[in-house]
Amino acid sequence: MKITLLHMKNALIFLLPSLIFSLVSTQASALQLSPIQVSPGAYAFIGDTGMRSYENEGMNANTGFIVTRAGVVIVDSGSSFLVAKAMHDAIKKITRQPIKYVINTGGQDHRWLGNGYFKEQGAQIIASRKALTDMQERGAAELAALKPELREKLAGTQTVYPERLVDKEETLIVGGEVIRILYFQGGHTPGDAVVWLPKEKIVFSGDLVYVDRMLGILPISNSKDWLASFEEFEKLMPKIIIPGHGKVCDLPIASKDTKAYLVLLRKHMHKAYNDGMELQVSISSLDQSAFNHLEHYELLKGGNASRVYLEMEAE
Ligand SMILES: [Zn+2]
Repeated sequence: MKITLLHMKNALIFLLPSLIFSLVSTQASALQLSPIQVSPGAYAFIGDTGMRSYENEGMNANTGFIVTRAGVVIVDSGSSFLVAKAMHDAIKKITRQPIKYVINTGGQDHRWLGNGYFKEQGAQIIASRKALTDMQERGAAELAALKPELREKLAGTQTVYPERLVDKEETLIVGGEVIRILYFQGGHTPGDAVVWLPKEKIVFSGDLVYVDRMLGILPISNSKDWLASFEEFEKLMPKIIIPGHGKVCDLPIASKDTKAYLVLLRKHMHKAYNDGMELQVSISSLDQSAFNHLEHYELLKGGNASRVYLEMEAE
């Protein structure tokens, strides 16, 4: 009996390091995140433009950060605890400054499910009040939907809500950097806000701007609000836009891939609905081919058209 116990103990001593190693190695993101520098202090992580998958770990969106001499401000915490940690590992290669704030530009999974990691680092989390409501309403469903895709890569991810809320606008001054959080009226999701650096004329637009890939009108989206928000957004006259999805761009590109598409959808569906056209005819008579260069064009064009038609019924 004694020998057996001793054997077990010895075996454990041998096994333990490899056990711990395999636990740690399965609990790391496999993403190779390398931020793009857009100004001396502002960086973007350009995410995959595909749909959420095990390979992209749900990071099918852009996030970013601003380095100041008094700490780092994160814009969107990514799709999971492990993705947030991977973001932080990449940031540590640039600066040793602590993470001071996390701003969530909206309530969609990839904007905020990494909050728990940054909260553990001592960051304060900020979002629009409408984004908080959205997170509270959809957070559990967002996690449940990611689970079968991300599996063990979702380890440690919890719904951690922002504690500081913005109604219309708020200005943070961190290490002398002016960072403005502006809420217009949402659109892609009700809580969509932007992060504006007035000195550099750089904006992290969150999901108000999609380029390279077709935007998605979701059941929670509102194309009328989205267009109105875009019209407020463009008054900023940003020089550099870190869009919610797609490559870093400027206002003409954002207008072409996002605003012009919203205008087309709304104009057509407004007329179709007022002319008493049926849903199916309204969709099939809409020529969206000017946007067929956008990724997911075939996949999303029908759903987008039908949701805007349904919005017209409600308007
Ligand atoms: Zn998004």
